[in-house]
Amino acid sequence: MGDYFERIVDVEVTGEEAGSLAERMVGWMVAEGLITREMSGDGVFSLQVDAGYEAGPNWERAVADSSDPSWVPGPVAVIVGRDHHVGGQGMAEADSATCPRCDTKTVIIDYPEEFEADQKVWQPFSDGIDTWKETGAGSVSCSSCGASVPVTEWQFGSGFALGALAFDFWGWPPLSVSFQAELSRQLGHRIEAQMGEF
Ligand SMILES: [Zn+2]
Repeated sequence: MGDYFERIVDVEVTGEEAGSLAERMVGWMVAEGLITREMSGDGVFSLQVDAGYEAGPNWERAVADSSDPSWVPGPVAVIVGRDHHVGGQGMAEADSATCPRCDTKTVIIDYPEEFEADQKVWQPFSDGIDTWKETGAGSVSCSSCGASVPVTEWQFGSGFALGALAFDFWGWPPLSVSFQAELSRQLGHRIEAQMGEF
């Protein structure tokens, strides 16, 4: 099956609320039979944790297509704490950031000419994100309209999300749209989905 994950990031929960929300969500997923309370590190390659909850008897309910009988999904790792999350092969930078005040898009990786971030452009975002990780609040001034905008409000390019709670589904078939909507409802927050490989 390869070592890949589908990640759901809660992009709204605060660092202070993330721990208790994680516990509540694990309880809900166990009650639904999606996971069990058994922990395993098999096939888990999340950066922040080395084990996850094993798939439960009703794991099929979460996925779009469970028709392959040989497919056995791996553990679900739960990641608590303010962090940046990247999909794909895991770049450390976002490829762009759009200001929510003036809608101006700042290009950070100038595809297709460049495949690496312009570090000068990225630096203020990197600093703001580091401050947010440490304190819960970090801002970047928009070079276009001058507004000081919290890093959690900038719209980063796809595959880059900030959040204090994330779920890595290791080796699961693609999660269904309805399950993702249900997850968002249970969390009470907006989510962002990412795919990636180890
Ligand atoms: Zn702006």
